[in-house]
Amino acid sequence: MSEFAVIIVDMLNDFVTGALRAERASNIISNIQKLLTFARERGMPVIYTNDAHAKKIDKEFQLWGEHAIAGTKGAQVIDELKPKDGDYVISKRRYSGFFGTDLDLLLRELGAKNLIVTGIATDICVQHTVADAYFRGYDVLLPEDGVQAFTDEEHKYGLEYAKRCYNAEILRTDDLIKRLSRLKT
Ligand code: ZN
Repeated sequence: MSEFAVIIVDMLNDFVTGALRAERASNIISNIQKLLTFARERGMPVIYTNDAHAKKIDKEFQLWGEHAIAGTKGAQVIDELKPKDGDYVISKRRYSGFFGTDLDLLLRELGAKNLIVTGIATDICVQHTVADAYFRGYDVLLPEDGVQAFTDEEHKYGLEYAKRCYNAEILRTDDLIKRLSRLKT
């Protein structure tokens, strides 16, 4: 049983190329791929937390406009990072992957204590997921080149905040993989 789990936040068509795209999201795809390949080889759980909004009524649309509507192509994970057999996929309707989902239950059943959080956006869905992880007692590792935001300022702000308030460890994907390679998990 691995005490680590990798979470991929919102790497969906609508956020990478569609309705609410973050131009910078494409910069992190190859790093996430590297991490996922490593995790799957090591039997480390891979968990996707995906926006799947309720058509028309979802509260988030007031702020962001319609995006990632459940069942549409926009709400699907991008082809480059498609979930594989054995991965877990969680649908969410709010920023945090924990809010109104069974993510916490899943992580407990998996025995995961350390969460590696990747995806977008550093200062929105990633940040709220990291906050809820911290509140529930998980330790968080945040690969700085495996998360992104709409702007560089927002990205840096998100990283700083996660470090200051949630004790997230910020490191590069390659260094993270090197460190995990040395563990027996
Ligand atoms: Zn959303």
